Amino acid sequence: MKKIYFDNASTTPVDKRVLDAMMPFLTDDFGNASSIHTFGKRAKVLLEDTRDLIASFINCKPKEIYFTGGGTEAINSFIKGVAFTQTNKKKIISSAIEHMAVLETLDYLKERFMFNVSLIQPEENGVINPDKVLEQIDDDTFLVTLMHANNETGVINDIKKFAEFCRSNSILIHSDTVQSFGKIKLDIKELNVDGAALSAHKIYAPKGVGVVYIRDSVKADKFLHGGSQERSLRGGTENIPAIAGLKKAVEILSEELESDIVHYKKLRYLLLEELKSIFEYIHINSPEENSLPNIVSFSFEKNKIKFDSETLLMKLDIKGIAVSGGSACTSGSHQPSHVMLALGHERDTALSTIRVSFGRFNTTDEVLEFSKELKNSVGLL
Ligand code: PLP
Repeated sequence: MKKIYFDNASTTPVDKRVLDAMMPFLTDDFGNASSIHTFGKRAKVLLEDTRDLIASFINCKPKEIYFTGGGTEAINSFIKGVAFTQTNKKKIISSAIEHMAVLETLDYLKERFMFNVSLIQPEENGVINPDKVLEQIDDDTFLVTLMHANNETGVINDIKKFAEFCRSNSILIHSDTVQSFGKIKLDIKELNVDGAALSAHKIYAPKGVGVVYIRDSVKADKFLHGGSQERSLRGGTENIPAIAGLKKAVEILSEELESDIVHYKKLRYLLLEELKSIFEYIHINSPEENSLPNIVSFSFEKNKIKFDSETLLMKLDIKGIAVSGGSACTSGSHQPSHVMLALGHERDTALSTIRVSFGRFNTTDEVLEFSKELKNSVGLL
């Protein structure tokens, strides 16, 4: 049976070129980057070359790049790392539509360490209004953490705007850039943030490796206690094969990001045209003007279809089509996504949401096939 994978915001397949680049580090070049012999040195060279490459790709200094086990660890490391260095300030401002990696971390800091967390609700179009953030800032605030692009809707926040104000008031600004990395141009200097998070498995590299960017002037506590790897902030032997994959994935992006974006936009345009021509009662949660090019989220209006998205996902899955009903982390629990509720959708509308997220290897024929199967599966009232 033909398979169509439209869930690239959850994870991407490993690019064949990435896999080829990893193989030597799973076979002959298996050394530990901390060893001083030739095996170790080869791993160390790969590690530092990757750091240099990522720093140049996102426009920061190599010493501001720390490898982690993924995006979640990167986010935990920055937020807890700076929170635990605070001596008197207790307030963190964030938004209600963050990924659970941020929301759960903030909950933990609030429940266990008495931090004061303020969550901003998004506007109807999914963006966070800078004025609402500014209203919440007071003398007790030390950190603002806002996602660059939302994983469920793809909506992009104007982080630069928040960053300017935060930095001029000595407040740290962190952004979860996991979804925007590799989907639009990500320039750390331009965003002007103190912290950011990257994840390899969203850019056609393997799972289990990520990056936390920490501006060199920022003081953060050690994330993982152990050896002196990652300039003594994160102990533990580095995942060299996965880092080799990440390096190749970034090299490919350096060459192909522009053409990837053109490709995503073509697929998005086609899908939106199809959706508009098939369905009357549909709400697009990903406005074209300020969303990632590869994500289209849509919800069916309350009471207009026979099924919620969980049933639709299963029907499509039987046809070999993989999409998501919100973020992968919440699907399966059959609760409306916190993002869709925060956008103001009623429970039933929120439950009817489908997220299509395109990848480098998808085709226009797949979009047409998906539209046809979606139409067959929906069962309009
Ligand atoms: N932040 C966002 C916006 C994400 O979409 C994800 C993954 O879905 C994460 C953080 C977590 O990244 P990882 O899966 O690498 O831990």
